[in-house]
Amino acid sequence: MAQRLGRRVCPNCKEYYDEEAVTLRRFGFKPETEGQVVQLARGKGCEICRYTGFKGRLGFYELMRSNGIIQEMIVRRAPLTDLRQACKDNGMHELREDGLIKVLEGQTTPEEVMRVIFTAGYDG
Ligand SMILES: [Zn+2]
Repeated sequence: MAQRLGRRVCPNCKEYYDEEAVTLRRFGFKPETEGQVVQLARGKGCEICRYTGFKGRLGFYELMRSNGIIQEMIVRRAPLTDLRQACKDNGMHELREDGLIKVLEGQTTPEEVMRVIFTAGYDG
């Protein structure tokens, strides 16, 4: 299981704004309609968060759901690329997907997910 730590939007100065859904495409988000708008959160900045707009930490996780096929692949030491594909086919929850969910829930911002997940060391 992979994990990354990001910052949580400050609850004290959190505000919601409308954003074009297409801006979330890089996270794997598929807008249902052209011009779809999603509501995202951001911190305006206040004394509590020292005007950063963030307060506290938020974990992003990559979960691997195991099944018989994957266990069998691990046992026979299948190539990692095959294993990864099998995990995706099995509905593996990737880091960016977890990030996307938390952005859509208003817990953090797309920029923060970008900063934390799309950095060196992550090959996904
Ligand atoms: Zn604040």
